[in-house]
Amino acid sequence: MARIRRWVFAGVLLLVLWLLGARPPEAVLLRPMAGTPSPALPALTPSAVPTASPPTPGSRYGLAIVDFRLHPDGPLYAGDRLSFEVEVRNVGRAPLAGGRVEIRRGGPEGEEILAEAALPELAPGASHRVAWTWVWQAPGSGTFPLIGIARGEGAGGATEARWAQLVTLGPQEALPETERRARWAQARSRCCTHVYLTGTAAEADLARLMAWADEAEATVRARMGLSTPLPIYVVWIPRLLGHGGFAVGDSLILTYPVADRLPVDLPTILRHEMVHRMTCAWIGREDCVGHLPALITEGLAVFIAGGHYRPEPLTQRAAALLRMGGWIPLEELVEDFYAHPHEIGYLEAGAFVEELVRKGGWPRFLDFLRSLERRPGDSDRTVLDRALRDVYHQDIRGIESRWREALERLSPDPEQAADLRFVWTFFEALRTYQRTYDPSAYFLKAWLPDWRQAVREGIVADFMRAPDSPEGRRAWQDLQAARAQAARGDIAAALAALQALCRALGCSDVAGPVPERPGLPVPDGRAKG
Ligand SMILES: [Zn+2]
Repeated sequence: MARIRRWVFAGVLLLVLWLLGARPPEAVLLRPMAGTPSPALPALTPSAVPTASPPTPGSRYGLAIVDFRLHPDGPLYAGDRLSFEVEVRNVGRAPLAGGRVEIRRGGPEGEEILAEAALPELAPGASHRVAWTWVWQAPGSGTFPLIGIARGEGAGGATEARWAQLVTLGPQEALPETERRARWAQARSRCCTHVYLTGTAAEADLARLMAWADEAEATVRARMGLSTPLPIYVVWIPRLLGHGGFAVGDSLILTYPVADRLPVDLPTILRHEMVHRMTCAWIGREDCVGHLPALITEGLAVFIAGGHYRPEPLTQRAAALLRMGGWIPLEELVEDFYAHPHEIGYLEAGAFVEELVRKGGWPRFLDFLRSLERRPGDSDRTVLDRALRDVYHQDIRGIESRWREALERLSPDPEQAADLRFVWTFFEALRTYQRTYDPSAYFLKAWLPDWRQAVREGIVADFMRAPDSPEGRRAWQDLQAARAQAARGDIAAALAALQALCRALGCSDVAGPVPERPGLPVPDGRAKG
């Protein structure tokens, strides 16, 4: 038996090395792009029956592992608490009634199950994602195969998909000094409890960050007319996730430092996330998030923050967008809001909220927010349209066409047009960089584990480490060079550099410049995420 296991282990190693080509084990990454089927791997044990994935023609049942992620990102060390994410998809023609998904660690002594979960019913084409957070602590350094196995069962048969990658854990002594010394710490400012890691830039600049948070909270609360402050936790992390800020329940997760990586203004991001934190309390409805279309929650955050990533004249900027030909009709934008080109969607949403507030003032806008009501089966468009009719006595098309006429009458603002083009292209390049080289940072699938558990258990790696590869580093340097050019005022050179980077990376939304004329449809960004 032991001989067979050793043979199996050697076989797995050879298989994975063959799949990796000539790359050394340290550079191991066998990660397909989301949406592509996992490679069909032969069975890992001589007794198992190989199953093909996707299914062979004629087979009714098929399962594919379309995404497999291991956290923390970047290099791994002995003692790390590992997390796994697996996404499986029914790629067969028949429904699957259930099944299991397992993560195993291979080794000379056989396979050890590290994590497992049941699969729900999956219709053909349906996907299911499983995440196991901090489920296994790597005991020592070394290299081993990590194997994902998904099994699905249908009424008349079964199917299996496998995935394997080599994982190398360095010795604990190799852990970077900053991470070895980092500990979670907390401090109180007037508005908020600040959670940060010792030895990081957030600790060094804590007084300034606290002052910014207090100012942002006071500004947003005054704007909303909320007399009672809410409990707010601000978690400062060095890892860049998404666009640098997330609001999760009572917590704001913010990247610091951020302005040396993205063309953003941190106080604006703080105000934006504070709006998210306070919106439901302002409306007086605890479950408001489920009722409000994302176009309205994000538009409100952009409007009250006074800009998307930085202070911006929203109406002038929306007029510039209209002239550039990038406009997305509101009834389209409101559906699946986050799948549309991000900077365009947020700008239109923010300017639309500004328009509504201009039309009927703040009290009427609040009535509108309170009348947004999602009934079972309602689309975002239905919810928005009904509330607009009830409160503003116009439907979505009527309001938009009058608003667009007003925007078209504004005189052109070339500065806003140039800046918008730069910001849009920069963030599109950033997101493409993230999807390609740092998928856990991509905002729609960001790895944001529970910070409270991390604090309780002293886990810091997920909030500090990022993947590193020579190609990724080069793309990142190009992105930063363009940001620095724009910061020096050379927007045209920055844009040209970003467009070249975008062509190399394969950005979906802005492969080329958008001509400066109205009526040109914007490249479709629906494929995102
Ligand atoms: Zn937001």
